[in-house]
Amino acid sequence: MSIDDLYQEIILDHYRRPRHHGPCPGCSAQVKHHNPLCGDEITVGVGLEGETVAQIAFDGHGCSISQASASMMTESVQGMAARQALELVETVRRMMHGERPAEDLGDLMALGGVAKFPVRVKCALLPWMALRAALAHLGHGLERGGSDGSSSRGGDGSSS
Ligand code: ZN
Repeated sequence: MSIDDLYQEIILDHYRRPRHHGPCPGCSAQVKHHNPLCGDEITVGVGLEGETVAQIAFDGHGCSISQASASMMTESVQGMAARQALELVETVRRMMHGERPAEDLGDLMALGGVAKFPVRVKCALLPWMALRAALAHLGHGLERGGSDGSSSRGGDGSSS
């Protein structure tokens, strides 16, 4: 089994059996993002206990990449410090733009293959950008300077 096959398996597994999928009654921030290019819609809910991501869930529908990415994200971020979670968002965003992560991200490495397909990058990043916005609502913004961007922006944060 090649590494690509393995990654494909991981993505399909998360797509078929999504983790942390459904409503999140304990979440204090929920952000919905959509990707009009593909029709993906994802709502990410987050609840913090102190600085820790104690609750995280996602809901929505869309292609296998967006759904699998959301499932993997919730699994990785659960129990992390909010700041760590934001760093992970940034690492994943960079990986989607072709930058190799400095450390092994486990199952998340499977998302790296998507970088080869620019149309899919938005799908894969959709839940991560929703998570970032949800954390910003909870006072953990990473946004430097500038206005409190509305959650409808849905961009990947790169400025050029
Ligand atoms: Zn998609």
